[in-house]
Amino acid sequence: MERARRIVLVGSGSVGASFAFAALNQDICDELVMIDLNKEKVSADANDMQDGLANFKSRVKVWDGDYADCKEADIVVICAGIAQRPGQTRLDLINTNLKIIKSITHDVVNSGFEGIFLVASNPVDILSYAVWKFSGFPKERVIGSGTSLDTARLRYQLSKRFNISPRAINACVFGEHGDSEFVAWSIAKVAGVSLTKLGGQNQVSPEELQAIYESTRDAAYKIIQAKGATYYGVAMALTRICKAILSDELELLMLSTRLEGEYGHNDVYISVPCIVGRTGITSILTPELSSAEMAQFNQSVKVLKENNPLI
Ligand code: NAD
Repeated sequence: MERARRIVLVGSGSVGASFAFAALNQDICDELVMIDLNKEKVSADANDMQDGLANFKSRVKVWDGDYADCKEADIVVICAGIAQRPGQTRLDLINTNLKIIKSITHDVVNSGFEGIFLVASNPVDILSYAVWKFSGFPKERVIGSGTSLDTARLRYQLSKRFNISPRAINACVFGEHGDSEFVAWSIAKVAGVSLTKLGGQNQVSPEELQAIYESTRDAAYKIIQAKGATYYGVAMALTRICKAILSDELELLMLSTRLEGEYGHNDVYISVPCIVGRTGITSILTPELSSAEMAQFNQSVKVLKENNPLI
């Protein structure tokens, strides 16, 4: 009999609980364990989720657990920590969340966990670096959700602009999951055609592309201003990443990973195109960027290195 595919979620707040809900609805695992400092809330969350499962005759088991449950887990998803408040950047959260991440990583590793860490807590690139450093795991098994959410936001906007399925949009957000992120327009394609070569009503001006970029980059600020936090979008992105891992999809996703020479950089977690499957990140693609995009990439690396207290 095959071993159950188990995900452990640490941090069942807005993001974590939304992720649990999305993961259960997508039926991506056999067991989902939920851990949080707030034991009463996480127990209620697990009970609430259990209440829905019979509707789909789902055999998934959900429970509120503890770190011992990580030993048998395939993936530990970290959504614990404080979130941005209106006016705050992701980088403003570093000091508090670094302490939280350190103790969580320690507890997970001490359980005997041998799976893959997936980090969502912000600032996600720096916290992924921290989990990699504190865990001593190979970088392939410590993944940050990075710009997977931003890339989904971008593709949704472009699909509306061109009135075409997001599946036909090949465009990515590179760099920091934060203010220095950028879109690699030079390699963006719609239905296989370069954005710059689209004719007729699909022709786009640089001003229009800049507006799409800015609204992608600033989407979280707007949502946080309006309702205090963002969680559904990232929850779906995390579900997508877990599915790619558990089903060994070898899917191409924009994820935060540690560079070792790619684009001329080392020792930084940042989003680049990654192939992800059962063993984690199996390879990194480095499509050629324009010189202006390379300058943006270098700037993003600079921001992430300058703000990382562990470097
Ligand atoms: P939240 O305050 O709703 O939830 C955080 C949860 O973490 C709480 O339930 C809290 O009890 C728990 N927690 C805190 N310390 C803990 C510890 N040591 N062990 C276990 N649990 C602990 O916050 P949220 O809105 O869910 O956001 C969570 C994180 O996700 C934030 O850092 C936020 O910035 C980040 N986020 C990331 C993305 C992304 O794309 N990566 C998108 C949105 C939010």
